[in-house]
Amino acid sequence: MQKITIAIDGFSSTGKSTVAKQLAKQLGYIYVDTGAMYRAVTLFTMQHGFIDNAHFDVNGLVGKLGEVHISFKFNATLGFAEVYLNGENVEKQIRTLEVSNYVSKVAAIPEVRYQLVKQQQQMGKDKGVVMDGRDIGTVVFPNAELKIFMTASAEKRAKRRYDELTERGDAVNYEDVLKNIQERDYIDSHRADSPLVQADDAIAIDNSDLTPEVQFEKILQLVEKTFEDLE
Ligand code: C5P
Repeated sequence: MQKITIAIDGFSSTGKSTVAKQLAKQLGYIYVDTGAMYRAVTLFTMQHGFIDNAHFDVNGLVGKLGEVHISFKFNATLGFAEVYLNGENVEKQIRTLEVSNYVSKVAAIPEVRYQLVKQQQQMGKDKGVVMDGRDIGTVVFPNAELKIFMTASAEKRAKRRYDELTERGDAVNYEDVLKNIQERDYIDSHRADSPLVQADDAIAIDNSDLTPEVQFEKILQLVEKTFEDLE
């Protein structure tokens, strides 16, 4: 069967990656979590002292971008590919609220986007890929055969994220998580380079009141319809 490209974009913590992973598994496709790539660059930025609460040395980061090497390695136990920064598995370190607090600032830098978009296009060049992010259907793969745009209320998203973080033992409070989500929504939607917008030909899914099962069923129907349309 012909392989397609599936772009899943949307706001933070809408469950994009859960759906994308499930879908990739079902179809035998590669899954690429582009948010993890921006998070890895953010971790690099923090490790080099280029960003903290008071400052962001953009030129310092841009000057060192050549030293940032991001890769994914499939973990058979987990069933998905984990992200590596310069050879080190950083899957856990990139999911903290601290990284979330800086990532949208780092992701707004055009040089960072240029480098990561190039790598993403390379990873998806043979199709058979499910990629999630903010600009996949608009910038990375504007010709993707299926584009989905996921949204949900900020409160529902914050509650899900809060549950996820506390379950893995992070001491966070709900208000901080909600604030982070609202800030990232704002920065991601208002940046000059590749802002988060729904592509004209994307199908929007508001999952505020959908169970994961119902949502996945809906998405599978969209995939089937896409294959039918291609025949
Ligand atoms: O998907 P996730 O929430 O892990 O993404 C973290 C951040 O990375 C987003 O808030 C956004 O600032 C940035 N991002 C982006 N473009 C993408 C994926 C993520 O700007 N394609």
